[in-house]
Amino acid sequence: MLKHDLTDEDFEPYFRTAQEVSQFFREIGPRYDAENTFAVPSIEAFKKSGLGALPVPKEFGGAGGSLLHASKVITELSRGDSAITLAYNMHYIMVGIAGGLMSEEQNKYWLGRVADGDLMFGPFSEQRAGFSGLADMKAVPQRDGGWRLYGKKTWGTLCEAADIITTNATITDAEGNLPEDFEARIAAESFFIGDFTVDADGNGDGLRIEKTWDALGMHATGTHTIHFDGYYVPADGFICQWRAGAFGVLEWASLMFASIYLGMQQRVLEEAVATLAKKRLGATFGAIVAADTEVAGVGHIIDGVGELASRVELSRRVLYRTCEEVISGRDADWPVELRFPYIGLAKTFIADNVLYMTRHAMSMVGGSSFRKGAIFERLYRDSAASMFQPLNADQSRTYIGQFLLQSARPQG
Ligand SMILES: Cc1cc2nc3c(=O)[nH]c(=O)nc-3n(C[C@H](O)[C@H](O)[C@H](O)COP(=O)(O)OP(=O)(O)OC[C@H]3O[C@@H](n4cnc5c(N)ncnc54)[C@H](O)[C@@H]3O)c2cc1C
Repeated sequence: MLKHDLTDEDFEPYFRTAQEVSQFFREIGPRYDAENTFAVPSIEAFKKSGLGALPVPKEFGGAGGSLLHASKVITELSRGDSAITLAYNMHYIMVGIAGGLMSEEQNKYWLGRVADGDLMFGPFSEQRAGFSGLADMKAVPQRDGGWRLYGKKTWGTLCEAADIITTNATITDAEGNLPEDFEARIAAESFFIGDFTVDADGNGDGLRIEKTWDALGMHATGTHTIHFDGYYVPADGFICQWRAGAFGVLEWASLMFASIYLGMQQRVLEEAVATLAKKRLGATFGAIVAADTEVAGVGHIIDGVGELASRVELSRRVLYRTCEEVISGRDADWPVELRFPYIGLAKTFIADNVLYMTRHAMSMVGGSSFRKGAIFERLYRDSAASMFQPLNADQSRTYIGQFLLQSARPQG
């Protein structure tokens, strides 16, 4: 078990740094959203800030920040710019997941590199089926040890900045055949770590970046396709069997995603209040007939802003309380089958709320929010990404419903 023993007092300077970096992300964000490219200047700013080493335990050279500390930093960065932050969020997710599963020796090396400023990313999802699809990517054993990876991952967030890659692939026989038996295939799906070194065109030894990212929102994440064509992973790049390992540490994924969308909620509220507090309609003839209508005095606006704020506050409580329950081990009180979906509820709750909020903020601000370049149309587009990152709401409910119904079934 890794030690995350940073005190709240010692966390304060990290949070202040996050506020500064957040401000920088806020300034540069609109340009990279409009250009639909990775926010390259964010790399130096993030690396220089030292925030990437926050969750690395002290024994490996980091700060020893907890899940809650990481969550607070991501929330703050995301308030500045959610798309840029979603890229660095992959770093936090993979440091948490890999750090929780690697051996002492592996952690010393890889987390030691992270403490020195290296960035990690994690392309797992493939085109056929996202995160829950067993890896079609093959890890072909080599005569002299290690594996060569073949296949492609279609969601490579942060690939333009990362130094270290973590991914999953299924170990094949020497001829490259995937196990035919389903259980054997699950057992052969493995978690690997290695160097990610590519040139300015994205070409590396046995791997390459294909710049395919073109989506509704989250433009600055640089979520491109990663091709593996004989990428070599030495024996010590094997971490563990993927599914069995990952399910024990996936809180680092769902709670970090939740943090992204909590930061986005805070931004929606901030922008809605700033706009609605000063908006005047002048003389109106409609639901309100008046010589001069001040929007801040309209009933449904007052109520709506209050509602947005209530959703932010409830989401904050759900997320930070969930982090605290996981840190203190209270999650052990839940049936083990429900651990992952129950932790994931924070993310699905916040995703539902941010989607509602971006829509409602637009409806209150009015048609100007719909124009390109308006912060609200951007938040609306970016918030749609919250539907997809694991666990999604449908799958969470399926896990929970299945467990409850199966547990209550008559025996015999
Ligand atoms: C901006 C952005 C960045 C991303 N970055 C990364 C990244 O860096 N690395 C990465 O690995 N992934 C990344 N992803 C991918 C993401 O996490 C999902 O894996 C991806 O969206 C595809 O998975 P899906 O479940 O949405 O779709 P699909 O797997 O195609 O699912 C289609 C439908 O089937 C349902 N379904 C899927 N599996 C099951 C199941 N087992 N049981 C029941 N129902 C199921 C889904 O709920 C959905 O309704 C990113 C996504 C976004 C939007």
